[in-house]
Amino acid sequence: MVPEELINFLRKAKKVSVLTGAGISAESGIPTFRGEDGLWKKYRAEELATPQAFAKDPVLVWEWYNWRREIIGKAKPNMGHITIAKWEKIFPSFWVITQNIDGLHRLAGSKNIVELHGNIWKVRCTREGIVMENRDVPLKEIPPKCENCGALLRPHVVWFGESLSIEDIEMAEEISNSSDVMFVVGTSSVVYPAASLPFLTKRRGGIVVEINISETTLTPYADFFFKGKAGEILPEIDSRLNG
Ligand SMILES: [Zn+2]
Repeated sequence: MVPEELINFLRKAKKVSVLTGAGISAESGIPTFRGEDGLWKKYRAEELATPQAFAKDPVLVWEWYNWRREIIGKAKPNMGHITIAKWEKIFPSFWVITQNIDGLHRLAGSKNIVELHGNIWKVRCTREGIVMENRDVPLKEIPPKCENCGALLRPHVVWFGESLSIEDIEMAEEISNSSDVMFVVGTSSVVYPAASLPFLTKRRGGIVVEINISETTLTPYADFFFKGKAGEILPEIDSRLNG
């Protein structure tokens, strides 16, 4: 099922990257927290994950994040995450660019990670801008306060209506611009900048390998498309690579 042609590309590849989205987290049992999945009490994600909602009611927003952290905290990396972490050790240059905020790539052992949308296990001081790790489940106080200055802490994630960090975007573009092979895993490939990254790889002559449970707008442009779960297809490619 894995074409020999892809294995040959991978054997020659020096720079490999993986762009991941909600699909790979879903295989670990993490809901998307959008639409019906995101309903908490009577609120939708789109009503809570905004700077306006936080300004109006930080306790409510933090209670929601506390609930999400409880769910995410129980999830474990799947074979997709584990295979990706393994590949960091076999390719000369290997990077993960993720839209996911759950931290599962790091938990699986990946180190070279660009988290485009932030990380739910990090908090940021609203006054000083300092980012700190916070893994307390449940949180010790809601809303949590900065230990340095006492100001309100916020989740270090990108909310609706907010811009992604320019450093992260530049890093992701640089990786995409130099990848010999880019895997696009479990992302619907419609949201900027993630949607544009595979095209940077293609433009420089690299190949794009898409893995998704259904076709996306990227599929017609992908050099290889695998329909199915990342947790099954990535290990299959890996075993062919070692075979
Ligand atoms: Zn502070």
